[in-house]
Amino acid sequence: MITVEGLSKSYGPIQALRDLSFRIGEGEIVGLLGPNGAGKTTIIKILTGYLQPDDGIVEVNGLDVLEEPKAVQRVLGYLPETAPLYPELTVQDYLQFIAEMRHIPAAERLERIGYAVYAVGLQNHLTRPIGQLSKGYRQRVGLAQAILHRPRFLILDEPTVGLDPTQIVEMRRLIKSLAKESTILFSTHILSEVEALCDRAIILINGQIRADARLEALAASPDLVMVLEREAEGVMEALRSLPGVHAVEAFREEGYPAYRLHSDEAQIEALPPAVFEVAKARGWTLRELRRERRTLEMVFNELAMAA
Ligand code: ATP
Repeated sequence: MITVEGLSKSYGPIQALRDLSFRIGEGEIVGLLGPNGAGKTTIIKILTGYLQPDDGIVEVNGLDVLEEPKAVQRVLGYLPETAPLYPELTVQDYLQFIAEMRHIPAAERLERIGYAVYAVGLQNHLTRPIGQLSKGYRQRVGLAQAILHRPRFLILDEPTVGLDPTQIVEMRRLIKSLAKESTILFSTHILSEVEALCDRAIILINGQIRADARLEALAASPDLVMVLEREAEGVMEALRSLPGVHAVEAFREEGYPAYRLHSDEAQIEALPPAVFEVAKARGWTLRELRRERRTLEMVFNELAMAA
């Protein structure tokens, strides 16, 4: 479990984080989504013990990050935005060096390096100097060092930034496969990344959490769309009088008369049966009745506009 409570951080006059709280349970893969400057890197640096917060509680696996940073780093893997790689070292020498730094016992080092190398697909690049690798492969080296000690928690800061489309697909596949072993929190400003990888998103705007929910909950809208086979009399009035309907909008969908019923989370569930009833009573032929869905992009834009 990762627990963050009342977290705040300022850089001089700039308040980067304002009173944030969230929890991430074991086995989750959570996307921290926000535009540039939202505070993603600041959260990640605090979680990984690289930066001190002004206020708040940050715990990983029940350990206080401020009080027990070393113990936290043993259960946590971290891929920074730009991994501090040593260009002149070969992949294998670099991983050997990291294994020593992390005090992985000598007898286990080979097995751990083998595990990390295979997990990220670096087995054919072991003897290449890191400086000669493509950006995508360097990113894999960064990921290999992050998972070398088989951490239960993996924190990745913008893991696909600067990669080409093929490398992005590959990196996402890797992250998915690592999620079998670790709880993952990764930051991104790319909406499709969150949709491709996780089932929960924390949306950060101007240092504040504006949404924290599973993707299907974010996508659910308190609107219902009814499409009829043909025009009917008095539809708007009948729909408006249903309990829980705040407004009705008429439009056409593929040439058929369609109506959007605006409701709210508390009342939307009861609405479809009521619509069926009124349609039956008035002899309307229903073509479709569906709950409106929002894309993550729509949610994000709404929140960004409201900020
Ligand atoms: P990006 O997607 O661009 O990396 P981010 O969401 O990771 O952005 P942060 O890097 O956490 O955002 O920055 C949050 C805010 O804090 C921004 O306004 C940024 O300018 C400011 N900030 C970050 N680091 C520092 C620093 N060392 N000194 C002063 N201000 C900083």
